Amino acid sequence: MRIEYRLLPDCERKEPPAPGAELGFGQLRTDHMFLMNYSDGGWHSPRIVPYGPLELQPGAMCLHYGQTFFEGIKAFKHADGEIYCFRADKNAERMNHSAEILCMPAIPEDMQLEAIHRLLDVDRRWCPSEPQSSMYIRPFMFATQDSLGVKPSKEYLYCVMLSPSGAYYKGGFSHAIRLLVTRKYHRAVSGGTGTAKAGGNYGASLRPQEYAKSFGADQVLYLSADNGAIEEVGTMNHYHVLKDGAFIIPDFGDSILRSVTSLSVLELAALGKARARQEVIRVDKFLDDVASGEIIEAGGFGTAAVVSPVGEYVFEDGRTLTVGNGGVGEHSRRLYEMYAAMQTGDLPAPDGWLRQVKHY
Ligand SMILES: *Cc1c(COP(=O)(O)O)cnc(C)c1O
Repeated sequence: MRIEYRLLPDCERKEPPAPGAELGFGQLRTDHMFLMNYSDGGWHSPRIVPYGPLELQPGAMCLHYGQTFFEGIKAFKHADGEIYCFRADKNAERMNHSAEILCMPAIPEDMQLEAIHRLLDVDRRWCPSEPQSSMYIRPFMFATQDSLGVKPSKEYLYCVMLSPSGAYYKGGFSHAIRLLVTRKYHRAVSGGTGTAKAGGNYGASLRPQEYAKSFGADQVLYLSADNGAIEEVGTMNHYHVLKDGAFIIPDFGDSILRSVTSLSVLELAALGKARARQEVIRVDKFLDDVASGEIIEAGGFGTAAVVSPVGEYVFEDGRTLTVGNGGVGEHSRRLYEMYAAMQTGDLPAPDGWLRQVKHY
């Protein structure tokens, strides 16, 4: 791929935050972004340009009919001073899965990876190096054709932007969240768009999220449309831990997003480094098993937090159900520490999980 570079002169580049500064999540931007257009049946004009406003026709189809999706990836600066991208090949694959579901064009995975790596290289001085900080990578694609018919757009823009982000767990791995168990709202149905990181899925999650907050919960635990099975959380897969230490993740089916974190935990299990498997999880049995102590821990898997333990389930009638001792359990902690150490190079990661960003 021949990428055009239109970079800011050094004097116009911003100063990255000083070491130790509070970065937050998703707030900061680097100097540049990657763009590539699709029209006349092909991808063209790959370029790295200064980060800034995009020009869009008011009739751009993404604004009206939601043909847009995204990915979330992390890269880490290791002790050797080099930047390593974590499992971006899995995200590139899922990007094309989302594209297929939304009738949008695929981008060859090697092209996506090159776009990400070249941009990381250009803005490498922005990659934070404090413990557990990362460069959050946000690739996305949306429809740009100026047309008001409800049909797939013929034109698209692919964009990658970067956001230096701080450690998710600043005071250590100690926070357990509360999930609202509700039969009122659903995230996805079989035959729908639940396995895509489609913008519309997240727009639709805002009202249930506000609803959860009104009950003092952090997020919603979504059930299947028939309310029989546990599906996932708005931006995380769900897991629970049995007394024997096994992590159980709901069977993906076609309404649960295939989390790269979940897939990685299952791969670690296949390598004998963890105990994990997938099952269909009936809600009633799950809640009984939490109450009886058969289930000792629970939580969510996702790129942002990696592991997010659940301390309590909340119900609309005001009842609550505590998991284990209501705090962060040992199995969740150990898995988090192993996974995070693999990302930062403090523990060897399975082959192919980390790819060093070249000095192009
Ligand atoms: C992004 C996301 C996840 C987590 O996936 P990762 O690849 O692990 O970051 C889980 N569920 C939903 C609905 C998501 O959007």
